[in-house]
Amino acid sequence: MGTPGKHSVENPRHILVECSSCKQPGFMDAWSYIASTRDAAAREKLLQGKLFKYTCPVCGTTTTMAHNCIYHDTERNTFLLYSTRREAQAECEHTLDELVRKAADANGHDPASYQKRIVFTTFEFCEKARILADGYDDRVIELMKVAIKRGMLEDGIIGARDILIYERTMEDTGGVSFVVTGEIPGDVVGVPQGYTYLKDQWEEVLDQLTDEYRFDAAWANAFLP
Ligand SMILES: [Zn+2]
Repeated sequence: MGTPGKHSVENPRHILVECSSCKQPGFMDAWSYIASTRDAAAREKLLQGKLFKYTCPVCGTTTTMAHNCIYHDTERNTFLLYSTRREAQAECEHTLDELVRKAADANGHDPASYQKRIVFTTFEFCEKARILADGYDDRVIELMKVAIKRGMLEDGIIGARDILIYERTMEDTGGVSFVVTGEIPGDVVGVPQGYTYLKDQWEEVLDQLTDEYRFDAAWANAFLP
């Protein structure tokens, strides 16, 4: 598909796909642009990690069908862009800059009040959308994940290849919770105090990172001393 952001085409598109298992052809909806307050059903699929999933009606196999997509969290003035092409980062940055410029113009906002994020996996795309929806700062969550992981590595609880995943907060606990996947799966709970501590500690520095678009584990590892 074409340049992300140029979504004058039908949205969602009804695209022809093929089951990865039995090769039966079928159709799925491919969204190129989702506005959180307008496209409620697509937003819900995104938050549930199902936006890119296709389940074959014949054999029941679920396959990830990746396609470029932009998510606009209109309440939090954030544009999150997923691209299937890692090598297209400069183009993605330009697309986001243009989207912010237009949105800021249209709403009389300061462009600096918008957040821009680029991700290159469908997984990160869904995870970041969930973090935003839950009202957290994704940069702080990434820092928190690295801080927790370092502690667990030191204690020999997990392996270097294990990753921490943000999971939706349970309403009754009010905490930020993480799930570890990899060699030794299990549950870890990141306590809310940990989030608040890191946010207070780094907020001022983080707010100066206006020209950055990528906030992932690699970024957090390099950022934390
Ligand atoms: Zn099938």
